[in-house]
Amino acid sequence: MSLHVDTPLIESHPLSLAAGRRVWLKLDALQPPGSFKIRGIGRACEVHHERGGRRFITSSGGNAGLAVAYAGRRLGVPVLVVVPETTTDTAIALLKREHAEVIVHGASWQEANALAQSEVGATDAYIHPFDDPLLWDGHASMIEEIARAGVVPDAVVLAVGGGGLLCGVAEGMRRHGWDHLPIVAVETDGAASLRAALDAGQPVTLDAITSVATSLGAKRICDRAWEWTRERAVESVVVSDLAALTACERFLADHRLLVEPACGASLALAYEAHAALAPFDAVLVIACGGATATIDQIRRWSHRGA
Ligand SMILES: *Cc1c(COP(=O)(O)O)cnc(C)c1O
Repeated sequence: MSLHVDTPLIESHPLSLAAGRRVWLKLDALQPPGSFKIRGIGRACEVHHERGGRRFITSSGGNAGLAVAYAGRRLGVPVLVVVPETTTDTAIALLKREHAEVIVHGASWQEANALAQSEVGATDAYIHPFDDPLLWDGHASMIEEIARAGVVPDAVVLAVGGGGLLCGVAEGMRRHGWDHLPIVAVETDGAASLRAALDAGQPVTLDAITSVATSLGAKRICDRAWEWTRERAVESVVVSDLAALTACERFLADHRLLVEPACGASLALAYEAHAALAPFDAVLVIACGGATATIDQIRRWSHRGA
């Protein structure tokens, strides 16, 4: 049994027209908990379950927390999610709908995470949202599905938060001999921890996250993501929040799927025919999804910024 599903791979006519080149979409927005995260987190939860883990604990109020809650419900394992006071009611309701126990604690993620860590007993498993080789192994499954479909793009476009998706995709590409194909790694202004690392020549910690793309809001990328930028071509692109939000609206109109700004960031490259795509005839965009956004929220953010 696997907790994720094989997702559709489609050639998008609207995005291809906008980008002026062929655009493939891997529709991981269609995973049951709403994002690609279940691939890696499902894998990690299965392994911890087999090793006797009796409870899963995490501190993500976003898609990672939702994936853990979903995995726990499917495996019959209780889940505790500790989230900071800034977490939206929508996110808490989604976690509770998956039967997770939710504790709201602390002004920031650091405080919530400290309490989560202190709760971890001998038979519990702590699940990290991005920095774990089990997660990367699970995320790599999306490249397996693409290769099996016989599609080989000229580049892969994806969003970067803490870098777990990047690590998984790079690992999957290595397994299929795609090390020579560039990864275009997209962040929003105000959540650009990869760009900050590239500028500094090493991973650095951002002072604050100011982007509306909260799922990209890791203040520091994981070390493995940094290493991949040394081992293969990873091109960093930073887009504005408004570009990401506009892409969400257009994607809803074009493909009838609502995604978070975190996902809109990578779609924005196609919609804006971004210069970073110029060298490529055919690109694959990972439509990573995101379950915490609502259309009202996306429109409020757009109007605030416009
Ligand atoms: C977590 C997440 C990301 C970023 O993934 P990382 O592994 O943290 O880089 C992007 N988009 C969505 C929708 C996410 O949930």
